[in-house]
This record gives sequence, C-alpha cells and structure tokens, in this order.
Amino acid sequence: MDFGFKISPSSAVNLDNVDLSLYDRLAEVEPDIRKCIACGSCSASCPANRFSGMSVRKAILGLQRGKEKEVAKMLSTCMLCGKCSMVCPRGINTRHLILSICKFYKED
Ligand code: SF4
Ligand code: SF4
Repeated sequence: MDFGFKISPSSAVNLDNVDLSLYDRLAEVEPDIRKCIACGSCSASCPANRFSGMSVRKAILGLQRGKEKEVAKMLSTCMLCGKCSMVCPRGINTRHLILSICKFYKED
C-alpha cells in the first residue's frame, strides 16, 4: 500500500560498535583533539562553512562516531586558511589538526 511517504533509514549510531583505534592513535599525536568543547566557534568563522558545511567541530564529532568517509569528504573543502585556529577558545591549532586528520585517515 502506498502511503505517499517512505520511512528514512535510521541514522542512529551505536557507539558500542564504533572502532576508535585510529582516532586514539590520532589523539596521541594531536592530544588537543580531546580539548574540544564543541562550541562551534570554528564553524561560525569558517568561510567554507556556508558553501560546504565545513566544520572542525563536526569533523571531530564525526570521527568520534565512526563517520570517517563523511569527514574526509567535508575536509576536502577546507582551504587551510587558518581562521578557525584564531577563534578557538581552547587554543587548538585546528589547521594543523585538519592536516593530521587528512594524513591519518588517508594512510589507513
Ligand atoms: S572552536 Fe575549538 S573548541 Fe570550539 S568546536 Fe571548534 S575546535 Fe572545538
Ligand atoms: S582552515 Fe579550513 S576549517 Fe578552518 S576556517 Fe579555514 S577553511 Fe574553515
């Protein structure tokens, strides 16, 4: 029977099944990733955000949830301008972090 709508596939993430081994290795070389408080200042200052949804905050949360492919796609739109580094209240060198994420998730 056609009800005129379809149920969307669930986007729920079972955190018990997420493999964080690569994320933990990344955190060893970029310990500041654990200092993020998800305030969103980086996203608000990012010139790419309004066009591509680029956001360091989203990238960090995505990696913690095992969404590496989505994160890699988003990071490819970063222009490495460094504006996000200047506004981070936790003093995270987000530009350097982005480069490390790209390196880590490319190698494996
Ligand atoms: S500005 Fe810094 S602390 Fe805030 S969400 Fe971005 S990376 Fe995290
Ligand atoms: S370095 Fe990348 S994420 Fe940061 S503000 Fe510039 S374009 Fe946005």
